[in-house]
Amino acid sequence: SAPDRYAVIGNPVAHSKSPDIHALFAMQTHQNMRYQHLLAPLDGFEATVMQFVAEGGKGLNVTVPFKLEAFKLATSLTPRAQAAGAVNTLKFEEGIIIGDNTDGKGLMVDIVENAGYPVAGARVLLLGAGGAARGVIQPLLALRPARLMIANRSVDNARELADFFSSAGKVDVSAYAALQEPFDIIINATSAGLSNEMPPVPAAVFRPSALALDMVYGDRPTPFLDFAATHGAVVRDGFGMLVEQAAESFFLWRGVRPATEPVFSALRPQAA
Ligand code: NDP
Repeated sequence: SAPDRYAVIGNPVAHSKSPDIHALFAMQTHQNMRYQHLLAPLDGFEATVMQFVAEGGKGLNVTVPFKLEAFKLATSLTPRAQAAGAVNTLKFEEGIIIGDNTDGKGLMVDIVENAGYPVAGARVLLLGAGGAARGVIQPLLALRPARLMIANRSVDNARELADFFSSAGKVDVSAYAALQEPFDIIINATSAGLSNEMPPVPAAVFRPSALALDMVYGDRPTPFLDFAATHGAVVRDGFGMLVEQAAESFFLWRGVRPATEPVFSALRPQAA
């Protein structure tokens, strides 16, 4: 029979490694499926999704800048998508559009299982207050960190997020320049690395062998990771999070949980 169709939808999207990741998952678990890039015009997200569904498409991963539109388009939301206020995974079933968000789970698995840093009891610093930061706050709080602090250029945006999640747990807010104590885990959820910049964090935030993770991934370490390494942190880019969120989406679609280790070795032989 014809393979089930999936894609990653975004703009731009050609750079996405998701098709390679899902192709390896499908081979490993013997799923009859095909996964492609799907470029949507900036003003044509819904039309592009609906055409994909009309052609028999079964599911989509959603990337920049459509995660909010995907949230609005979904007719049924998982609790974690509801909490994140954004959707990175769509699943199409008879007449319903299920919206899920696997980014937070992906990051937690990468930090706790792959990097080996427990979030429970840890002092966690989250840099940024955009969509990516929003998606990981509830999953972080669920693991009971000793402290969660958000720092952002616009402190008002950070304050807004802290207030939004206040029923899930205590979230502190700070300007970058006011940070002065050490953290165990520092997560860069800003997009600064995409333009080769970094959020202006003081060196004092890195305790010795702290984990510094940048959600951005690429061929070279971001300026944030270079800075963190200089100050004694263990560094990690966003590729692990990407693979783990993909595995979680794959599980939602296919009911099978792929092993992620073989995918790391295949797609990133130089992985730290
Ligand atoms: P948004 O545009 O929603 O938010 C951008 C954030 O970055 C804001 O907090 C903004 O601060 C801050 N920022 C931007 N430029 C700078 C700078 N030069 N210095 C300091 N702060 C800056 O983006 P998203 O939250 O959607 O995405 C953030 C990043 O996470 C992206 O690079 C994305 O690719 C990555 N990502 C990776 C994933 C993965 O699987 N690895 C999954 C999801 C996202 P302010 O509010 O003050 O403007």
